[in-house]
Amino acid sequence: MSIRVRFAPSPTGPLHIGGVRTALYNYLFAKKHGGVFILRIEDTDQNRFVDGAEAYITKTLDWLGISPDESPSKPGTAGPYRQSERKDGYLKYAKLLVKNSSAYLAFDTADELQSLREAAEQKGGRFIYNWENRNRLKNSLSLSADEVAELIENKAPYVIRFKSYEKGRDKSLSMIDKIRGDVVVDTSLLDDKIIVKQDGMPTYHLANVVDDHLMEISHVIRGEEWLPSMALHVLLYNAFGWKTPVFAHVPLILKPTGKGKLSKRDGDKFGFPVFPLEWDKETPGFKEAGYLPEALVNYLALLGWNPGGEEELFSLKELVALFSLEGITKAGGRFDPERCKWFNQQHLHKADSALVESSLAQLLQQKGIDNASVSTADVVGLVQDRLTLLTDLWDEAYFFFVAPVEYDEKAVRKQWKEETPQILSAVMNSIENAHDAQAETLSAGIKLWANENNIKLGMIMAPLRIALVGALKGPDVFAICSVLGKAECVKRIASAIDKN
Ligand code: GLU
Repeated sequence: MSIRVRFAPSPTGPLHIGGVRTALYNYLFAKKHGGVFILRIEDTDQNRFVDGAEAYITKTLDWLGISPDESPSKPGTAGPYRQSERKDGYLKYAKLLVKNSSAYLAFDTADELQSLREAAEQKGGRFIYNWENRNRLKNSLSLSADEVAELIENKAPYVIRFKSYEKGRDKSLSMIDKIRGDVVVDTSLLDDKIIVKQDGMPTYHLANVVDDHLMEISHVIRGEEWLPSMALHVLLYNAFGWKTPVFAHVPLILKPTGKGKLSKRDGDKFGFPVFPLEWDKETPGFKEAGYLPEALVNYLALLGWNPGGEEELFSLKELVALFSLEGITKAGGRFDPERCKWFNQQHLHKADSALVESSLAQLLQQKGIDNASVSTADVVGLVQDRLTLLTDLWDEAYFFFVAPVEYDEKAVRKQWKEETPQILSAVMNSIENAHDAQAETLSAGIKLWANENNIKLGMIMAPLRIALVGALKGPDVFAICSVLGKAECVKRIASAIDKN
């Protein structure tokens, strides 16, 4: 069987990371089996359409390195890939179902249905448009052929409804979900869903099933929120006489507390993004927050899928090699912002230093700093391992480019002793007279002097760091000296002696 899967978002806003993970699982499954990963935009509901949402989805998939093989911007042979561009085709399929008695035209007005609902509620019940009452309602099953023809002639609005169950049929529908196993639904409890609206447009259910069939989708991998629709979809496939794809409903991503679905509000509350890219100023993205795409991919992959074994850090390629639908868990995955950060830290440490260097170069440019004497490569060599998020970069690296103008008060109070200026003068001399600016040379020179003069290293290191950095932070102090260069060190030490 050739593997064809699709990610089928509705362009109603930015893509939540739950959707991102669904796309990722589809991608991993397709690549693992040499299949095709399709992006289909489900935009039949124009009321919910949001401008820019499709572009956002495409940009997200590209950023994560999981671009589709076929999509609106990269059409294959199964196009068009936007349902709005396929809309003329759906009615034909609905009519096929009317013809084979699986669906019918319903003329009930909104008001009529509303009064039925209210009447049922008054009696403590619930009105469901289904097998029990469809013959008493206003539709092509209860009306005569002439009455129906007349209504159509008079342009009476109607919808097309699908007969989910009919008396005499077997009520129980057994289905298999790749993740949940056997799923049995009592179809007599289902309502007769509208498959074509009054405006002639298909509803999600019809368009989704028709397109999955026409696009020859072999596996439907989607969020758990669609599990309740599986029975209707299977019934639709059966009614058409089409082969059903394999279904796999992926569990939800849960709030950090583990209770309920992760929402934007959780992100706002705990200060982490729930969207891959920035959507607007109130909707930050992982990218802007300093996450690497490979880290987000790795974390999301494991949030609801178990690769087996102890290893947790994987590249996209490794994930492809390991992925299986069987490894997807039934229980929802709790989003843990700290763990997500940890994955980022691990990937950032392994990342190509050129990436961090280009981020640093960009920062320097933005800030209008041109400090040609300090090598960005050397700086990155020292700070890359200290980063958790790419956005930590400036905090870890600024002092290589900007000499301290003020000094951390607390640090000075604690570390700046009476004899410090004298000691630092000697350190300054030692640096100035060193043969070269290698960290080892500088360190050896200073240690030798300290030893000869019976001065504890502790009296040197902290003040030297304060003089160079302005605070007690940063990588190895001699490494900092070396990257700054002898002249800059001398200048900074002299200035610190002067000011403190
Ligand atoms: N358009 C649906 C969504 O927005 C697609 C569900 C499915 O994959 O069948 O999630």
